[in-house]
Amino acid sequence: MAADPSSSHRLATIAVTAGRPDKTPDAPLNEPITMAATYVAGGDVEYGRYGNPTWTALEDALGALEGGRCLTFASGLAACATVLDLVGADGKVVVPRHAYTGTIMQLGDLEARGRLRAEMVDITDTDAVVAACADAALVWLESPTNPALEVADIATITAAAHAAGAYVVVDNTFATPLLQRPLEDGVDLVVHSATKYLAGHSDVQMGAILTRDDELYAVLKGRRDLLGAIPGPFEAWLTLRGLRTLHLRVERAQASAQELVRRLGEHPALSEVRYPGFGGIVSIVLAQGEVAADLLSRKTRLWVHATSLGGVESTLERRRRWKAEAPTIPDGLVRLSVGVEDVEDLWDDLRTALDGCVG
Ligand SMILES: *Cc1c(COP(=O)(O)O)cnc(C)c1O
Repeated sequence: MAADPSSSHRLATIAVTAGRPDKTPDAPLNEPITMAATYVAGGDVEYGRYGNPTWTALEDALGALEGGRCLTFASGLAACATVLDLVGADGKVVVPRHAYTGTIMQLGDLEARGRLRAEMVDITDTDAVVAACADAALVWLESPTNPALEVADIATITAAAHAAGAYVVVDNTFATPLLQRPLEDGVDLVVHSATKYLAGHSDVQMGAILTRDDELYAVLKGRRDLLGAIPGPFEAWLTLRGLRTLHLRVERAQASAQELVRRLGEHPALSEVRYPGFGGIVSIVLAQGEVAADLLSRKTRLWVHATSLGGVESTLERRRRWKAEAPTIPDGLVRLSVGVEDVEDLWDDLRTALDGCVG
């Protein structure tokens, strides 16, 4: 694999160039899919669970974008579980009460089995979060949160956590490395559900962890080797292919989200529009609550009613249809994942559906 040729390049160029084979005559431009459970003995890798050239190409590319070393996993939650495994017996984890439901459920499961303690915080209340850091082993940040879209003061919280000797991890799934690079703020670890924007086409499940700390990298690589939550080579290839257009997709989704937010603000069916100012996710709250939100999910023709987010196709979902979603998320909140379709078509479809949800 070529040494990173792109360190002086901007992120859009890195997304296109990083993780390519060396430019030698007749070399393929793209890293091939290597299907291999084992390798001829005597090398550095030896076995399929320990490494794969297609993973490495993706890890080089994503690592260059986030500014750290990357390990890929079978799913976002496999990456989250591997980070939580760093916490020692009975260690305390500080976590946003509105973090992704799967993360909250993992923490609840570990806590119920006496493995660790979780303290839920309002991530926008920086003073309270800083106070909670005092005896923490790990501070878990998700910013913006899913689906409340709250934003954390990452730099201030990280300083407090480090003063207390705690690790800090940021789930960067919503912002992507194009809009937020937490490792530059001194955060120890970044996790991704690559299933979302990084792969970007709703056809892959994959996760990733990034760090600048070589010791942490070695520990996490050791966990992946032993636990075996490795990605498939084809999935790694698809994610790398998706990553090549990340900047175009995120730019378009963000521009359309900003335009939709301007127009949605006036709509009488809504009591609230939540948007952190960046990214492609918007949460709207239907004034008539759950029933109107479910009606909206059935009325759109272009927007697909589906969970997940960050794909080229626009999707929407009432989050409280999941029992595990926090009770502090409004019943009538619908999360919109803005895709890359024409914004006028997205608006026409959404407005028509919303018109049918007014009181
Ligand atoms: C989807 C998601 C995850 C979990 O990722 P999977 O790939 O579904 O396992 C973690 N964090 C956030 C913010 C997510 O949206």
